[in-house]
Amino acid sequence: MSKPISNISAPMLDKLASLRVLLVDDDEIALDRIEGMLRKLGIKSVNRSLDGHAALAAIESAISLPQLVICDLYMPGMDGIEFLRHLAGRSFEGGVIISSGSDKRLIKTVENLAQVHHLRFLGTLYKPVEAEALLVALMDLIGSAPNNGYGPIQKMTPEEISSGMDAGQVETFFQPRLALCDRRVTGAECLVRWRHPERGLIQSVAFISVAEEHGLINDLTMVVFGQAMARLSEWRSMGYDLDVSVNISMNTLNRLDLPEVFADMVRKAGLEPGHVILEITASRLMSDIATSLEVISRLRLKGFGLSIDNFGTGYSSMEKLKQLPFTELKVDRTFVSGAADDDVARAIIESSLKMGHALGMNVVAEGAETRQDWDLLAALGCDEVQGFFIARPMPAEEFIPWKTRWEAVNCKSKSQ
Ligand code: C2E
Ligand code: MG
Repeated sequence: MSKPISNISAPMLDKLASLRVLLVDDDEIALDRIEGMLRKLGIKSVNRSLDGHAALAAIESAISLPQLVICDLYMPGMDGIEFLRHLAGRSFEGGVIISSGSDKRLIKTVENLAQVHHLRFLGTLYKPVEAEALLVALMDLIGSAPNNGYGPIQKMTPEEISSGMDAGQVETFFQPRLALCDRRVTGAECLVRWRHPERGLIQSVAFISVAEEHGLINDLTMVVFGQAMARLSEWRSMGYDLDVSVNISMNTLNRLDLPEVFADMVRKAGLEPGHVILEITASRLMSDIATSLEVISRLRLKGFGLSIDNFGTGYSSMEKLKQLPFTELKVDRTFVSGAADDDVARAIIESSLKMGHALGMNVVAEGAETRQDWDLLAALGCDEVQGFFIARPMPAEEFIPWKTRWEAVNCKSKSQ
């Protein structure tokens, strides 16, 4: 199987090289291990502190603040939990990673705390830290920020969104989904991005919620859906048996003519609705229950696949499974990444699988970031998988070349 992020582009390597990192840990061996990995990636500025007090002193006296702090939890002197509070109190804008060997449930609580503190929390590295998990967290820091900066997310304005849509700045990216049984590519999730003339490529977190709040999400969904159909039609006419999944906001489900509009677009692209899966986050469903129920049921009647997205995160997920005709269950990435070392997450995946399969649903795990995640999902009998371990979302034109390379390396027989 190929490595997770096998080829880091030259601009990404440049960004990595210029990162300023502060390591906070009382264990010199752990410090040596992480520092060695960072240096191998070309990172030159790596400083070390042995507890929270020393780290705060280092930050206060620094000429340039660190852009990333990697912090242990249990340390004599000031521990990691208290240190995170002080970091937040200083409005630290860099990325934060926890590296710890503590009890997984305690780590989960600290992760929540980091988010409540509004720190830019990038994830946890379980000790002994693995190079590929470290790389994923680093790529998150350097690759995901709008503006390509390291600061907080800069939201787009509603005006930028509506004029940008007219100017053709919306671009759908595709993240591969794979069948775990034979590693073949089954399709892709469509994830929207913004090609901003000055700010460069912008991630969805900077504009989806703004579009939802200002009544622009329907228009945006139509653009993404149109691009998705155009690509799927191109790929299927080349002979590739692929499906696409499109994310649908709950606001869009209040549109009664949605089943006709989508069915029409699918037909005009020469496709069948059975090759299109609509991903819906059930916990956010239903401001107008009757309309949403009707729209969802009629979408299913027309043959679209229906996926319950981010499963396990909303307390109403189970209830919605009973109410709605979902064909697929998508286990949220917060349970998938690191699940091999997390009994609670593993139990949630296992019970989601059992429930999904008992209801005849396809179960997809999203957010597989390491080989351990992959191996666990395969052992548990998950149907499909998606995640950075396989590939990040990519521009449409890169998808078929990527699929061909992946299948040549990972699948035994012919790839079509
Ligand atoms: P989602 O539907 O849960 O999409 C999966 C998100 O997880 C994507 O983030 C994807 O890039 C990310 N992801 C995939 N694999 C991994 C992994 O291994 N590790 C980590 N850390 N993350 C992974 P993205 O593209 O930023 O999208 C975020 C959310 O924005 C989506 O969550 C979806 O709710 C929404 N969204 C994206 N595109 C659209 C769209 O076209 N329409 C609507 N309505 N919502 C969209
Ligand atoms: Mg989704």
